[in-house]
Amino acid sequence: MEKTTQLYEGKAKKVYATEDPNLVIVSYKDDATAFNGLKKGTITGKGAINNRMTNNLMRRLEAKGVPTHFVEELSDRETVVKKVSIVPLEVIVRNISAGSFAKRYGVEEGIVFDEPTIEFSYKNDDLGDPLLNSYHALALKLATREEIELIKKYAFMVNDLLKGFMKEIGIDLVDFKLEFGKTADGQIVLADEISPDTCRLWDEKTHEKLDKDRFRRDLGGAEEAYEEVMRRLMGE
Ligand code: ADP
Ligand code: UDP
Repeated sequence: MEKTTQLYEGKAKKVYATEDPNLVIVSYKDDATAFNGLKKGTITGKGAINNRMTNNLMRRLEAKGVPTHFVEELSDRETVVKKVSIVPLEVIVRNISAGSFAKRYGVEEGIVFDEPTIEFSYKNDDLGDPLLNSYHALALKLATREEIELIKKYAFMVNDLLKGFMKEIGIDLVDFKLEFGKTADGQIVLADEISPDTCRLWDEKTHEKLDKDRFRRDLGGAEEAYEEVMRRLMGE
């Protein structure tokens, strides 16, 4: 499978067309951004780690009944995925208070919830990804009622499975962001990535942050944290 024209360059990945109209190649970069692109930097080696980690997790989720866009890993940084039209919702699931949840509701980070929460943001950089509920998503025709229900079901399935995968390697899954897309034949599938860029991951014993907060908050050691998660997950 070969790349043809570049379709899109985002903050963390590039997307290329292929000879097959239903397949695209994503190429992961080392570029890191935060605060809607205001803070920019590089996390060396991140592209390869996020690519391989996403593929490892998507394969395992697929095997447990979550449909995904994953097709084939081409190289360290490049993967063939089903081309989808992205549902413009950032789907955020939380198990423990952190980040914007803690800030918005004036609570400390680290409160373990009895039940996971779900929220949606409208994926629109110009508007700063505003929070919305499913009625707003319907009003804006971002998805149908059935699609929103399916997305919620898959998001909670991903949470249960991912929490388990992370627990096996001594990590608490705090929160994460998912994106879903619609394939040419109308199927809703999990798309984009699942990585330390898109999840908050805390060591279960030391509570050390093993994710992009090391970059966002200038804690140092981002490269090492990403490598540590990769090592625990894939034994390398
Ligand atoms: P951003 O657009 O937020 O800067 P990225 O740098 O990660 O994000 O760019 C990757 C883009 O590719 C995102 O807009 C994402 O929604 C999109 N995308 C992810 N998976 C697929 C897919 N299977 N088909 C088409 N587009 C996808
Ligand atoms: N997240 C993401 N992309 C975004 C916004 C959030 O991947 O554009 C992830 C983030 O890494 C965290 C979770 O979603 O794991 C919840 O993020 P939060 O709403 O707390 O926002 P933040 O304060 O991190 O911007």
